[in-house]
Amino acid sequence: MIYDYLPVSMVDYPGKIATTVFISGCNFVCPYCHNSQLIRLKKTVRSEAEFMEYLNKRKNLIDGVCITGGEPTLWDGLYNFIKDIKDLGFSVKLDTNGSRPEVLERLLNDDLLDYIAMDIKAPKNKYGLFAKNNEDIERIVKSINLIKNSGIDYEFRTTVNDKILGLDDFTSIADLISGCRRYVLQAYKYSDGVLDKDLCGEKQCDVEFLNEIKEMLKDKVDEILIR
Ligand code: SF4
Repeated sequence: MIYDYLPVSMVDYPGKIATTVFISGCNFVCPYCHNSQLIRLKKTVRSEAEFMEYLNKRKNLIDGVCITGGEPTLWDGLYNFIKDIKDLGFSVKLDTNGSRPEVLERLLNDDLLDYIAMDIKAPKNKYGLFAKNNEDIERIVKSINLIKNSGIDYEFRTTVNDKILGLDDFTSIADLISGCRRYVLQAYKYSDGVLDKDLCGEKQCDVEFLNEIKEMLKDKVDEILIR
């Protein structure tokens, strides 16, 4: 279900002025999760009806809607929610951890997505730090291939915390996403909401480390961005 929405965002949807809507509930337990209050939460601050009413009134000001979480693909109402947004003429970007490829496939088949941002948490051998079961880890690869072949705009992205991921891990990640259009490296930043403070630490990831990864992977993907 919808938890809440940010009326205007200039940073959540590349190239667009967007509204960002947060869906509660997640099947992962990423140690650095900033939205950890959303993982188990089952409550709504502003309802779907309020959100749709807001969108209806902002047709001339907002280009698109970024749907994030939590993990939006776990929500039964996601398909109809996106359909309603598309019917109003907005572009839709979906943020996902990639654990529900069948949901992505249905949305892609019905032309309901314009942009997907999928997190690549780690190489497969370290996904156990993030996902709670092996089935979810196996589904990640299926989602990567679906997205690469989707024909829509997309990015894969990794939050980089050098206490969790080393340079070797990025060689393995590159094998997973090799040939992809866009890969984004996001520096880990500490906040009070971080799920596992002991594992993640309080130090922000060094930009030199991000540049080192970027240099190492430059021949594997079309474009690498540091955010
Ligand atoms: S996928 Fe990870 S970072 Fe995203 S909401 Fe779930 S636990 Fe948090």
